[in-house]
Order: sequence, then structure tokens, then C-alpha cells
Amino acid sequence: MTRRLSLFGATGSVGQSTLDLVRRDGDTWRVTVLTAHSDVAELARLAREFRPDIAVIADAARHDELAAALAGTGIEAAAGGDALVEAAERPTDLVMAAIVGTAGLAPTMAALAAGHDVALANKEALVSAGDLMMAAARQSGATILPVDSEHNAIFQCLAGGRIEQVRRIILTASGGPFRTMSADDMARATPAQAVAHPNWSMGAKISVDSATMMNKGLELIEAHHLFPVGLDRIEILVHPQSVIHSLVEYVDCSTLAQLGSPDMRIPIASALAWPQRMVTPCTPLDLAHIARLDFEAPDEVRFPATALCRAAVAEGGARPAQLNAANEVAVAAFLAGRIAFPAIVDTVRRVMNADAPSRPRSLQDIFSVDAAARAAAQHFVDICEHA
Ligand code: NDP
Repeated sequence: MTRRLSLFGATGSVGQSTLDLVRRDGDTWRVTVLTAHSDVAELARLAREFRPDIAVIADAARHDELAAALAGTGIEAAAGGDALVEAAERPTDLVMAAIVGTAGLAPTMAALAAGHDVALANKEALVSAGDLMMAAARQSGATILPVDSEHNAIFQCLAGGRIEQVRRIILTASGGPFRTMSADDMARATPAQAVAHPNWSMGAKISVDSATMMNKGLELIEAHHLFPVGLDRIEILVHPQSVIHSLVEYVDCSTLAQLGSPDMRIPIASALAWPQRMVTPCTPLDLAHIARLDFEAPDEVRFPATALCRAAVAEGGARPAQLNAANEVAVAAFLAGRIAFPAIVDTVRRVMNADAPSRPRSLQDIFSVDAAARAAAQHFVDICEHA
């Protein structure tokens, strides 16, 4: 039976991996929506290949460019934030949420509110508005299928188990490219070094988040919403080989783990095919060749981001949204060469110290906190740059 797929963030790393799987399993899937932010050429190329009903470019100024690129194809061209939301509400069997940052929040919420199952890669949406997103899914009956490799691993380890019988969830972390680097060397780290992840090939933002370990902190918040076992039962364990993607320990002291090569197509395939399995072109594990798996406790002195995230989610309310927005601005500033690597987490901390946002009641409240945190972070980045 053909299944309809709406793909948000088609031109990115997760988007392209998703399309690689869809391309190999063309009889199963009919792509109905494709979106991008500004890469009109790539979006149009993908649209010509996958023939969706609609292609949406988030940057409203590029509408005419997209329309021209799709002229004569019969594919509808749309642009802007409202078009993204409207595309997310369209009938579908699965939405792949693979936009980076809180830019993905409005369409993901719209998809959940419409009752669509969502394969969720866009962790920043859940970090910013986790309570609202989980409530929207509960209300509409939509299922959230985690795509992040760790959360997908936990989801798989929980299949057949009961969340009340979980004693601990252990989120594994590669430690990123700077795992063994001194604080002094990290102070001089360049964007090129930060995006060179030792195991995974990913977009620039998440690669920098892996280098600061903010990614693991965001994942802690994500896990807290997806798997409500209590924050103190979610731990982080550094595992440099990225073979074990996370573990679930049950009350009887049985620990289940999910293992696989560090290839995002494996968790993506798990979410696409759920509750079935699909064939992938990924490399199977060769444990004899890998020979050893290492583990170490996280170093929260050199990598303070995880503690900051734990404090933010423990406080709850709009704190995680504030943290996430400040981090997005700081990462962009680092990638643009405006601030040094340690200033990323410093900026987030300064934004959080400067203002305690009130409890959000709506998505609009989240957007207000997000905007205020971005402005504050920009201010600290400007000071830092000119210091
Ligand atoms: P990329 O940067 O590679 O791709 C991001 C996608 O989002 C692109 O299609 C981009 O379009 C689009 N986009 C960017 N900004 C906006 C915006 N303002 N409005 C609408 N669309 C936008 O990111 P990744 O694929 O690496 O990551 C996507 C999400 O998945 C992130 O939340 C990340 O944390 C998560 N994730 C990623 C993993 C990975 O291996 N890459 C692993 C686990 C989770 P354009 O190309 O036009 O800029």
C-alpha cells in the first residue's frame, strides 16, 4: 500500500537521508510535500524527481524563483511561514519534521494538531514547546516517532516494555570532536574543527551542538518529554564509538540497548517503517572488527551545557525555549566567526541569568520568549565580538 510522506527540511542532512531511503523504496512512498528554507535550486531538483503536490520555500522572498524553477511541472510552489503550516495540515500518512531549529515548531505543531503521525528529527521544537507538543499529540491521537538516534534507540528498547517499569534511561553521547581537547585548545577552536564530527555526518548546527555537548543537553530535554520516567532517571554516558545509541534499564536490572552503525538512515528507516521494519543499504555492525566499546562519565566542567539544560528543564516553563533560542543565535555567531567557541555556552548562560521568563500558556507565549531570548543573545554576541 502506498503511504504519503510530507517532508519538512528536505534539503538538509536528515531530509536527504530520508529521500535516499524513499528513492530505494519508491513503491511504498508517495512524497506529497517537500520544503526548504532558501535553497531553491535543490528544492526544485528534488521536487522534479519526487513529484510532490506542493513544494514550499520558507523564505517568502524566493517564491517567484521557486515558481519559475517548477514552471510546467504541475507542482504547486508556495512560500513563507503560513504556507509551511498549511502544507503540514494537508492529508498525509507521515510527516518527517527535519527542519533545523525552532523554525520547525509551527509546522510540526500544525501536523500534530491535525492528527498526523510525526517522525521527529527537529529536536529544537520539542525542547522549546515540549509540554504543548505532547499535549497536542495526546489530544489529536497523533504518534510522535523519534528520529534522533538516541531517542529512536530508547523507543525501540521500550517496545514491549512498560514505562512504569523503567529504572533508568541512559543516553549515550559520542563526546563530539573536542572530547579529549583541553579547555585552552577549545578556546581557539575554529568552526571547521567543530563541525568535523568523528562519527556522524550532520548539518552544521547540530555538529556544533555536539562539540559543545549542548546537543546532549537538548536530547535530555527531548527524552524528558518523550519518555516520562522522571528527570533524575535519565543519565548521560559518553561512548566515543557511537555504536550503542542508548539504553533502557528496567526494574529487574535487565538493560536493553539498541546498536547500529552511526548512519542516520537506520533510525530514519525505523521511524518510516514503524511498526514494521524496512531494508536499508546501511552497513551492518561488525562487532569483531570494532572489538571494543568504551564508556566514560561526562565532564561537566569542560562541557557545562548539559548541566545548563538539566537545570532549564528542571525549572520547566519557558526556560528550555529561552535556552534553545539563545543557543541557536550563539551557534550561528560562532559559525560566522563572530564569537569564540566557549562564548556559545557563555552566551546561553548570560541570557538565562538576565531574565526569568514567565510560564507559557500558548505557542504564542513560546514565540515571545524565543524572540526575547534571541534579542538578548544577539546583544551579548555584539558585546563579545567587540570586546
Ligand atoms: P540541516 O542544516 O542539514 O538542514 C536543515 C533543513 O531545514 C534544510 O532543509 C533547511 O533548508 C531547512 N531550514 C533551515 N532553516 C529553516 C527555516 N528558518 N525555515 C524553514 N526551513 C529551514 O539540518 P540537519 O538535517 O542536520 O538537522 C535537522 C534537524 O534534525 C535538527 O533539528 C537536528 O537537530 C536534527 N537531527 C539531525 C541529525 C543529523 O544527523 N543531521 C541527527 C539527529 C537529529 P535550506 O537547505 O534551504 O537551508
